[in-house]
Amino acid sequence: MDQADTVRTPSSWVVVGLDNGGTCNNATVLDATGQFLVNNLVENPSRVLEGPESAVEALAEAFGNILELTSTPLSLVRAVGLDTPGPASAHGVISSKGATNFNQVSWHGFDIRGALETRLGLPVVYNNDGNAAALYAHHQHFGADAAAHSSVSAIVGTGLGGGVVEAGQVVRGAAGMAGELGHVQIPLLGVLEDGQPVPLCNCGFAGDVESIASLTGIRNNLLPYWLTRFPDHPLAAEPVAVAAKALRGYGEKDDPLALAVFGQQAKAIGKLFTIAANFTDPSAYFLGGGVVEASAHFRQWFLNTVRENTELRDEQKAVAAFALVPDRDMAGARGAAVAALTEATAAG
Ligand SMILES: [Zn+2]
Repeated sequence: MDQADTVRTPSSWVVVGLDNGGTCNNATVLDATGQFLVNNLVENPSRVLEGPESAVEALAEAFGNILELTSTPLSLVRAVGLDTPGPASAHGVISSKGATNFNQVSWHGFDIRGALETRLGLPVVYNNDGNAAALYAHHQHFGADAAAHSSVSAIVGTGLGGGVVEAGQVVRGAAGMAGELGHVQIPLLGVLEDGQPVPLCNCGFAGDVESIASLTGIRNNLLPYWLTRFPDHPLAAEPVAVAAKALRGYGEKDDPLALAVFGQQAKAIGKLFTIAANFTDPSAYFLGGGVVEASAHFRQWFLNTVRENTELRDEQKAVAAFALVPDRDMAGARGAAVAALTEATAAG
């Protein structure tokens, strides 16, 4: 890595963004003028599987590393933004039932935000990873006008994450569970084929967005159905988990089975955005996840299909934007930093 080209040193006070994942932490620095000092992915091992103590220490290492990389004195850091996968409370207490990355008993009900705040001696602002990416998409798109706009982001991954941003701020909800867009149930008319079984989600709901628009939805629901319609497809010979991951490559080559599956995903997200249109009437609809990394031709087709299936009134069509969430791998850390900057600025 050529650090001279990709890293700058601060000229004002800063905040640090830390994105905690199953294998890695990703770190960034954002200065008070809204400029990111790091243009690339900077990762270190997250050690979440070793339990909370090791994981908080790994976050502290990520924090120290990114200050060193950007030649930022500790005294310039006003706050830290942290995001992790959920489910967790609005203030970073991991679910009492644990979570995919946090399944050790010592994680259940663990206050990761509070623990990092104590360890670093700096204010730590928490968001879940979907909300952090939504916040980044919003601020990147609207820039200095962010506070004047609202948006909804759907991020397709293993599950369906995302968030709702109102007046430039994440809507958190009473229990921290606002913006769980994957578990919004959608009308299935016009999404499913005649005779196609109603898709089931791991959360227990039938026919929610994640049951269709996620890698898990492809594996559990869409691919098993569509392979019955294309029994001679080469993916029929693969284990379903392998086939599900390979599907995007086929979609990029306009394979009919793959386009049928991704078309259903895009329709499901369109139904979700139609609900959003009648709920908060946002200025922008953002789409993120693996699709952002697909070929330009495929991702434009996917975004167009989402837009065609989002039923807006003429007044809404005139003002609403549809766009991709940029910088997929860095969106979490950058959104976490944006949240910290907003709070640090408000605190003065
Ligand atoms: Zn669900």
